[in-house]
Amino acid sequence: MQIILATHNKHKQEELSRMLSGIVTVASLPDDFPEIEETGVTLAENAIIKARAVYSQLRLPSLADDTGLEVESLGGAPGVYTARYAGEHATYGDNCKKLLYELNNSTNRKALFKTVLCYIDSNEEEYLFEGIVTGLISTSEKGNGGFGYDPVFIPDVSDGLTFAEMTIEQKNLISHRARAINSFVEWITSASH
Ligand code: IMP
Repeated sequence: MQIILATHNKHKQEELSRMLSGIVTVASLPDDFPEIEETGVTLAENAIIKARAVYSQLRLPSLADDTGLEVESLGGAPGVYTARYAGEHATYGDNCKKLLYELNNSTNRKALFKTVLCYIDSNEEEYLFEGIVTGLISTSEKGNGGFGYDPVFIPDVSDGLTFAEMTIEQKNLISHRARAINSFVEWITSASH
């Protein structure tokens, strides 16, 4: 079975392809597929919007993901605005700096990363899968690995290391995205599918 990954992001395509290899065949979006606007107010809505946009054009099983960072003392922000927290064209560095600034005096630094996947199968049925990793926002940026908020996110299960201080293999064992994908893989390889 072939599944279309609803993203133009090469990093994501590689990561998802690696995690799904041997289970399903994955294909990327055609280069000229238009950018899909993420207008949802929840991660699930955005994942559904992306998977539906791809299914409706290509009529093939589609898998889309959306990820957000939710910080307890900021009322769950940045949430769906995670990618554009410091502005529409913010860099990863801008976003980390804004987060550290906003949390400057906060002793509650609890946060979580959440990934929601939406899969639309060949009968146009929609299924959602979720992966969460809880942790703390550090007081400064640490580590050179990963991307996004990795230098400021310390997962609870990491002995105090940020995601950016871990190897990609260590991160992939516990990350929100890996957990969401594992849940999808478990479902798609179960007896009923
Ligand atoms: P997306 O929905 O996967 O594009 O993720 C939205 C934003 O969340 C990205 O632009 C990153 O800033 C952040 N993000 C997603 N996954 C990670 C991660 O594994 N580590 C750090 N930041 C992430």
